Amino acid sequence: MESTFVMIKPDGVRRGLIGPIITRFEQKGFTLIAMQFMHLERSLAEQHYGEHKNKPFFNELVEYLTSGPVCAMVWEGRHAVANARSIIGKTNPVEASPGTIRGDYGMDITGNIVHGSDSPESAQHEISLFFHSAMSAPMFMEISDFGHTAN
Ligand code: GDP
Ligand code: MG
Repeated sequence: MESTFVMIKPDGVRRGLIGPIITRFEQKGFTLIAMQFMHLERSLAEQHYGEHKNKPFFNELVEYLTSGPVCAMVWEGRHAVANARSIIGKTNPVEASPGTIRGDYGMDITGNIVHGSDSPESAQHEISLFFHSAMSAPMFMEISDFGHTAN
């Protein structure tokens, strides 16, 4: 069983897409194990996208990510990282297939609605950053708390 970090970005929250996006993850077969609605400090946004700090779009990206609340989540399931990337779709909504979240809801490469970790290692790093750092400390639930076993 694997966990992945997913974040509905400010445009997704603003457009009322929290419900539809959570529904897609539930319908795919994921189990939600942590969720936090939060407004990111600039430092957390910069850390989260640290790998892109030398890219020309970095400042725009951080401005965007701190422009409103986000919904940070941890989803668990088989091959969670790859399955999440698959239902999220390609980075640029222009290239994302219809049926994916970005393909169905997005039009802009910066405002592409949702984030999903790109490897199990980055998932663990991002989960630590958002759910175990001094900046935020929500409660984690165990899979067994739901009274069933995830697929
Ligand atoms: P992801 O893993 O599919 O989200 O894509 P990346 O890790 O490559 O990029 C992180 C985020 O930066 C993307 O989700 C976009 O919001 C943004 N981004 C990526 N590439 C570009 C770009 O070429 N231009 C702009 N403006 N934003 C970009
Ligand atoms: Mg990425």
